[in-house]
Amino acid sequence: MSEINLGIIGGGQLGSMLSMAAKKLNIKSIIYCDDINAPAQNFCDEFILGNYNESDKILEFINKVNIITYEFENIPYTTLNEISKKKPVLPDPNVNKIIQHRLAEKNFVNKLSIRTTQYSSVEKKSDLDSLESLLPGILKTTTMGYDGKGQYPIKEIKDIDTLNIDFSKEYIIEKLVSLKKEISVIITRFGDNNYEIYEPIENTHEEQILKYSKIPADVSEKIFNQSKDWTIKIAEELKYIGTLCVEFFIDKNENLYVNEIAPRVHNSGHLTINAFNVSQFENHIRAVCSLKKIPLKKLSNAKMINLIGNQIEPYRQNIKLKDNEFFFDYLKKEIKDKRKMGHVTILIK
Ligand code: ADP
Ligand code: MG
Repeated sequence: MSEINLGIIGGGQLGSMLSMAAKKLNIKSIIYCDDINAPAQNFCDEFILGNYNESDKILEFINKVNIITYEFENIPYTTLNEISKKKPVLPDPNVNKIIQHRLAEKNFVNKLSIRTTQYSSVEKKSDLDSLESLLPGILKTTTMGYDGKGQYPIKEIKDIDTLNIDFSKEYIIEKLVSLKKEISVIITRFGDNNYEIYEPIENTHEEQILKYSKIPADVSEKIFNQSKDWTIKIAEELKYIGTLCVEFFIDKNENLYVNEIAPRVHNSGHLTINAFNVSQFENHIRAVCSLKKIPLKKLSNAKMINLIGNQIEPYRQNIKLKDNEFFFDYLKKEIKDKRKMGHVTILIK
């Protein structure tokens, strides 16, 4: 077979791990990113620096690759769509267009008769006056949010005045769910009813940032099956190709809700690198490059700990790891508060 050059848009830790998985499959990875310090430069075969609207740079990128994928959803639709006229872009830019916009995403999920939190669009401050039934809630920007960025908890309408919110942006307000637990389900879809799905992963957030993930998730059989069924339904309906993650809430009454969809590999799936025969990253590459699908096999239970900010330091100073512990340093240049710097996966019995 002739050599595959895979283009990846985005150069963060997910891009790094996709590059590593590509290398294992003998596929060259070429990363396009707007960040001169993008950590994936340390892992990919070639790196192109450019903005997501810089057409000559993007053309240079397109000319070097056979297939294009991406590691994050906040890429302008017009950019992905233009690229897709010249080379295949997977997942489809129209799928990303729905998922990158919280309102379109929630409308889509509800149309499938799958439960989400209650929500409403907020275009201007006064829209909130009639939405008291959604309080306490969280006001979220419809686009560009991640790791809790662009989110404002609102207990009462009057909280808005103290928050200094920029209403030139679009928002949604979501009713706060009384959380018992959060889980995620990762699926890699290769074509019609042709997929591999990982078991639900239990996630713990601190300050709206993922801190721990573990398998098995401590959930009822009903939640275990329902979360997988909903994930399959979402992936099939989108005719998705590649790895996708659905984040769920479970409330105190054991109701399951879709929180959000990530049209990409996901932080909660880092443990799949060590706990399964095929990781979410390798599966993504296999799907977008039309390689063979390998039956998924779980090798071990596992727990993943995100190293945020200076929590990376002791590990960089050569902490002695046990045989069942795996440390990943994302090689980000600067340690910043709330920045995901690396992670540790521990395989457990
Ligand atoms: P992000 O894009 O930043 O991941 P999320 O919508 O997933 O945004 O929110 C991040 C975290 O904040 C969630 O995983 C959850 O812990 C908390 N959160 C967000 N929305 C709600 C909600 N409606 N009810 C309860 N907790 C929420
Ligand atoms: Mg989230």
